[in-house]
Amino acid sequence: MNASGHRYSFSVTSPLDQKLSAVLGGRTATSMQRGLGLLTVGDLMTHFPRRYARRGELTALAQLPLDEAVTIVAEVREVRNRPMRNKRGSILEVSISDGTGILTLTFFNQAWRANELSPGVRGIFAGKVGQYRGTRQLAHPDYELFDRDALELKKPEQAKAWAEQPIPIYPATSTVASWQIQKAVEVVLDTLGPLDDPVPDAVRRERELLPFAKALESVHRPKVDSDWRTARDALRFQEAFVLQSALLQQRQKQRESEAIARTAGSLLEAFDAALPFVLTGDQQTVGEQIFRDMAEPVPMNRLVQGEVGSGKTLVALRAMLAVAQSGGQSALLAPTEVLAHQHFRSIVRTLGPDLSAQLRPTIITGQLPTAERKKALLASVSGASRLVIGTHALLGDAVSFVDLGLVVVDEQHRFGVDQREALRLKGSKPPHVLVLTATPIPRTVAMTVFGDLDISSIAELPAGRQPISSHVVPLAEKPGWVSRVWERLAEELAVGRQGFVVCPAIDAKTEEPGTEPVPSSADDPDAGPPRPIANVTEVLASLRSNSVLAGKRIEALHGKLSSDEKDELMRAFAAGDIDVLVATTVIEVGVDVPNASVMVVLDADRFGVSQLHQLRGRVGRGGVPGLCLFVTAAEVESLARERVEAVASTLDGFELANKDLELRREGDVLGGVQSGGRSSLKLLRVANDGQLITEAREAAQAVLADDPTLAEHPALAAALKRRLDESSEAFLGKN
Ligand code: ADP
Ligand code: MG
Repeated sequence: MNASGHRYSFSVTSPLDQKLSAVLGGRTATSMQRGLGLLTVGDLMTHFPRRYARRGELTALAQLPLDEAVTIVAEVREVRNRPMRNKRGSILEVSISDGTGILTLTFFNQAWRANELSPGVRGIFAGKVGQYRGTRQLAHPDYELFDRDALELKKPEQAKAWAEQPIPIYPATSTVASWQIQKAVEVVLDTLGPLDDPVPDAVRRERELLPFAKALESVHRPKVDSDWRTARDALRFQEAFVLQSALLQQRQKQRESEAIARTAGSLLEAFDAALPFVLTGDQQTVGEQIFRDMAEPVPMNRLVQGEVGSGKTLVALRAMLAVAQSGGQSALLAPTEVLAHQHFRSIVRTLGPDLSAQLRPTIITGQLPTAERKKALLASVSGASRLVIGTHALLGDAVSFVDLGLVVVDEQHRFGVDQREALRLKGSKPPHVLVLTATPIPRTVAMTVFGDLDISSIAELPAGRQPISSHVVPLAEKPGWVSRVWERLAEELAVGRQGFVVCPAIDAKTEEPGTEPVPSSADDPDAGPPRPIANVTEVLASLRSNSVLAGKRIEALHGKLSSDEKDELMRAFAAGDIDVLVATTVIEVGVDVPNASVMVVLDADRFGVSQLHQLRGRVGRGGVPGLCLFVTAAEVESLARERVEAVASTLDGFELANKDLELRREGDVLGGVQSGGRSSLKLLRVANDGQLITEAREAAQAVLADDPTLAEHPALAAALKRRLDESSEAFLGKN
């Protein structure tokens, strides 16, 4: 073969990129893929154990959560086989114990298992905890018995080592048990050749980290606890290092590309002169930072974070005017239809008739009627519209621009790096990018998720804002208070104000898709049994028939309505024609109705901390004080309750962001922000690993400064490429 390029690419292929089907049996590979989404050797090798058990370990059987997949180390106590009561066949009942409690395993028509499951035998048992006549049981569990004979034959010190050897417990599913993963991992480890380490030797030696291959061996096949601990240290650092290198390289690439410099002029002057208020100091400062960035022939990449209502949209609009000055176009990307329409209306209003006529703001969303959509697309592609506002639809192929100079992403929460990238590609030259977020971001998160952005903050609120008072309505202790909630709502309406009632679900069967995943109550042993959650349909009906609200106009707003319907409802609410909106999180971001003074959030524990904070920002926007009532049935001291209490206790978004980090134990802090899927964080925990992330960033900076193209660091270059491939795969997979 003289196609040396081909041979070269073959030689740099890492064993990690091999398909599992080439290494494992076809059936095993298929179940790894179907059950766990693991496709390559690298996927399996980085499917790290969740924890480690010991053969001698006693798991608290007494506290097994219902309906959860569990893995237990226990000893068989009793076995009996009995005929079924009402059917033909027999049932084998095996009780196992770990010293803290007893659990029954049941097998139908499998009496032969009594041969191996004899009293005194120990093993690992896995299955989903069910309940039968009030006692917990595992029906047809998977199990693996410890080899008693082998143990007895061994010398005492060997037996001790065997009993103490950590057993990896993997994140498993109902179709793939932990030890099936363990077996597959062992097969792969045995055949894995040498691996290049993305962390350069010098860095690794300085930090005294295990080499990559050794770390994988020790994390999956530790002999003693210290093995997996040191292995995890190395792998965690590697993860942080690769991530930071990726972000820094992306930043570097962006700086290398050329953008069109934009300077503000008469359009901005006219706009500022007509504003009915003065800019806050922070709006002024951030504005200057933005104009300085955009005056350079290098793409701006800036995140503006500022409390709800701090006037970020206005800051963005001023930037768009600077771009429009030279005939450039700006795209404003909003996370929801409702928000896109609201932005459109408020931008038209804020610009006033003259500037609107000049700049022709246009809206493009997925639900636009065809004729309107055609017109909007034309306005965009012809350059006639210099402000194009829209939802995800803006990312579509149909939308193009003549001279896209600025992309503004409002409320970053739902847009990842990839979406920003997709819009960036729509410019002939890379546009400037401004990301707005009302969720204050702790420094380490910012560094991890937005390591490629510069950051500005707006802390100051416009003058005249009224404080919002927040209260928890704890139904667990005070079930009667719910009627007081509706009376309080009625009192606000009586003085001419309006209110929101927020529910997590649309109807008994449909949860609002945008609802932020919170740690499920299954992870929270204190959360109590699952209850039906408040939904818009039922709450609407009950409020309409509630006598304290008689004569009030109450309507429902949620994600199942068409864009026209939602738009019409928001318009009517803004105009004061609707008194109460019963809604889902579709009203979460940016909705601006100054006369709305009260918000009731039902089942508030079903929302995340930042989501509650965002929701609360919908009231108290005008000159009237806001009131927010968080209704929850979560028990005192449960994690769910703590989240709600945290939000009620402060209006300071930064404090909440930190609290949020603390409260999300294992939770994925990055949520949907990252492209998700296989490229989300594995061992790294942004909440705990701040120091490590900082150090990894410094190390990555040093490496890239010496070797910007990574020509001398092929293993790191390959790791970055792998990350990029995964995230673009995940991105393509979504669309
Ligand atoms: P954010 O997007 O940061 O939540 P908005 O940009 O929607 O906030 O602004 C909220 C409201 O405050 C809008 O009605 C806006 O017109 C108004 N506003 C913005 N800046 C000022 C200011 N400097 N003084 C008074 N009101 C302002
Ligand atoms: Mg906003």
